[in-house]
Amino acid sequence: MNPIIEIKSLLETPQNIIIVTHAKPDGDALGSLLGLYNFLKKEVDHTLLAVSPTDISQHFSWMPNFDEIANYENNPDIVDELLEKTDLIFCLDFNRCSRVEKAQEVLKKSKATKIMIDHHLDPENYDDYRLWEPEAISTTYLVYKFIDLLGKSHLIDTDIATCLYTGLVTDSGSFRFSGVDENVHLMAANLLKHNINHATIHQRIYDTFTENRLKFYGYCFSNKLEFLNDFNAAVMYVNAAELKKYDIENGDTEGLVNYPLSIKSVYITALFIEREDRIKLSIRSKASIPANKIAEKYFEGGGHLNAAGGVFYGSLEEAVAIYKKAIEEFKDVIVLG
Ligand code: 5GP
Ligand code: MN
Repeated sequence: MNPIIEIKSLLETPQNIIIVTHAKPDGDALGSLLGLYNFLKKEVDHTLLAVSPTDISQHFSWMPNFDEIANYENNPDIVDELLEKTDLIFCLDFNRCSRVEKAQEVLKKSKATKIMIDHHLDPENYDDYRLWEPEAISTTYLVYKFIDLLGKSHLIDTDIATCLYTGLVTDSGSFRFSGVDENVHLMAANLLKHNINHATIHQRIYDTFTENRLKFYGYCFSNKLEFLNDFNAAVMYVNAAELKKYDIENGDTEGLVNYPLSIKSVYITALFIEREDRIKLSIRSKASIPANKIAEKYFEGGGHLNAAGGVFYGSLEEAVAIYKKAIEEFKDVIVLG
């Protein structure tokens, strides 16, 4: 793979550029997408399109130029055409074509120069250039590094810094995950120099619950949480009827998976949610317990050591039973973890 710094000369003249991130984008995906989009707007006169493969949670609608992101599902033909004839495609916060869902075929087929900026394990080889660092705390950390490699850090303004800070906060668990090092704090310090309002950003990310959502969380903790005490593990599971009863939308379950880890003795936990045609699951762990290995082995998924996810095609009960078996199998690592 070519070093991404070679992109520098390409970006010195106006290009047709598409920036895309993964389906159901989270804070880091949107922070990278809009951080790079707002940066490239300030460079030479590029033609730019920022794309999400799916709808985007309104939770992040306060991010600068959020309204300019195209939802692929709403305009597949137009975006397909653009993807085919564009010069450059930046692929942010994902490294497998399947993560862009319905846009994957046209992404693979496109003759554009593809640039991957990402921090997930096991990248596919569909890119021409990459800034790929699996130890990077967030993709916005790498977008910030990319801007620095271009020698354009002076173009960072409050809007760009706000986007980059959002990904840094969400993917680092508000600066508390073990991957946070001095460089992450140095980046945060530099972003703060651009007059971002960090307290408001935190508030907009975390303090936006509806009453129903908090009651739903309470319901889950009281009725849908099981402890596997012999294994320092927990599990939560929610069916479609319960989601409907509390008027829960997709983004509303974001973060719910983490709560059981606040119990001292719980080292691994999972959340299973019944979606239309599948069970979607998230796994979270502490210390060196490999959440991603369980997701990979049993749930067609993967992710990071302490935060992973996957899917299961079958009933909620079957999925939970498989998780419990997996916990037994991984008992030695978990109890020692
Ligand atoms: P979440 O639980 O927040 O949906 O995802 C946590 C992490 O797990 C993501 O950053 C991603 O790396 C990984 N992940 C989530 N869902 C999937 C999936 O279906 N497949 C794979 N390979 N990774 C996933
Ligand atoms: Mn990320």
